[in-house]
Amino acid sequence: MEKICNYIGGKLVNPVDGKYMDNYCPSNGKPYSLVPVGSEDDVSAAINCAKRSFENWGSSTREYRYGWLMKLADAIDKNLEKLALAESLDNGKPEWLAKKIDIPRCAANLRFFATAILHLDSKSHNMDGEAMNYTIKQPIGVAGCISPWNLPLYLLTWKIAPALAAGNTVVAKPSEITPYTAYLFSEICIDIGFPEGVINIVHGQGDIVGASIVKNCDVVSFTGGTDTGRLVAANAAHDFKKCSLELGGKNPTIVFGDADFDLSVKNSVKSAFLNQGQICLCGSRVFVEESIYDSFKKSFIKEAKMLKVGCPKEVSTNLGAIVSEKHLNSIFSKIENAIKNGAIVAAGGKKVVLPGDLSSGYFMEPTVLLNTKNTDSINQEEVFGPVVTIMPFKNEKDLIKMCNDVKYGLSASIFSQNISKANRVAAKINAGVVWINTWLLRDLRIPFGGMKGSGLGREGGYYSLDFFTETKNVCFKIEKDDNK
Ligand code: NAD
Repeated sequence: MEKICNYIGGKLVNPVDGKYMDNYCPSNGKPYSLVPVGSEDDVSAAINCAKRSFENWGSSTREYRYGWLMKLADAIDKNLEKLALAESLDNGKPEWLAKKIDIPRCAANLRFFATAILHLDSKSHNMDGEAMNYTIKQPIGVAGCISPWNLPLYLLTWKIAPALAAGNTVVAKPSEITPYTAYLFSEICIDIGFPEGVINIVHGQGDIVGASIVKNCDVVSFTGGTDTGRLVAANAAHDFKKCSLELGGKNPTIVFGDADFDLSVKNSVKSAFLNQGQICLCGSRVFVEESIYDSFKKSFIKEAKMLKVGCPKEVSTNLGAIVSEKHLNSIFSKIENAIKNGAIVAAGGKKVVLPGDLSSGYFMEPTVLLNTKNTDSINQEEVFGPVVTIMPFKNEKDLIKMCNDVKYGLSASIFSQNISKANRVAAKINAGVVWINTWLLRDLRIPFGGMKGSGLGREGGYYSLDFFTETKNVCFKIEKDDNK
């Protein structure tokens, strides 16, 4: 079986302890490669290389860093096919999705921050001729970038790109469940001769490799679950490290009686089930105004039943495999618990057994649950799978209470043709990202992030560059001209 390597100091290296664990293909449930079980020693080697490389990279020109990030983006484009197939193999997502969204977004992330750094301006404050202040943004040092399994290379590059553009070096850790494209990314870095030690990737478990990165790096950017985020925040707090946290969500999709009906059905189905419902922004609680609840519910269920769960290689597949057996079981146990609490399964709810080699894959039907209360755990805890509840609402006041009555606050989508009402509701929803009459329409410049249990800080555009830099003010006194 192929052995995935760590990428440290510009080289592919085996883990110091020589230990590996199986890496599974979710579509057939079989191990197909070996992932290093990294240790603190591996992280320490990576941190040392990143520190040494910071001496040059951290003081290099913006044009220099721009040049390397653009080369990396071009190389990702060249390897689009290979990376997309690998992402689908490792994660279970449809290949078309990886080709259309995941991998192009990796190149876009790199290009976006490569060019952004060229346009970053700075402030100055003139003290009426007596003195001048100017404010500079300096790289911090070694950035620890820790990412989850749902959008593996997409989210890894979303962190690496601004960290590098701002002049930091990086020690990154992809999820141990989906390490493969980060490994291919290391090979690409070597192929193009990317400066050694500027990007380092250590594979392994979160509580060892992840925790050690948090302890030893200078700034932490983390995306993952809320409980893990709490640990990361506590560990980073010990040394007052800057820490950005992008965590879980339990996002509402709101459909008013005056919404464009077809648009709202299409978007809310997509928002519930894209990437097997494994996107932090997925709308897993659909609130529908009473006047259209029955007709909306009927159309939503009809659309959900039409979605094809199938081989990730087929272009007609809507939902591929769930990322792991453990995660599949966790989704089913949450559905079972909801049923015990009175939920009615209106669509899905079962495992899908595909023919041949895929019969042991982790496939399940898109699932729609009715007759739930917002206070039920199915509406309070993140499922992070293709499971959605539909609930009616009477009026704006009740709606807003239900939307906000969760520990999360990542995103929301509102469907209404009354634009004043939609904006009024948007203002009252506790979420960092709100869409009106759309979902997942992303501009890389916008502040992206959540409130409450969904995280701390914002990523995107200037917000990421601000996060990955220290702000320093220099004040210099202007001597008076004594001859006057
Ligand atoms: P996770 O928290 O289990 O793991 C995320 C990463 O953290 C992995 O690389 C893991 O190895 C590492 N990790 C685990 N323990 C650690 C520790 N003690 N210290 C440091 N690192 C540690 O999350 P997951 O299951 O991989 O991903 C799913 C979660 O991610 C969901 O909750 C989802 O909502 C969230 N997510 C959020 C966003 C966002 O932008 N808000 C985006 C994608 C996913």
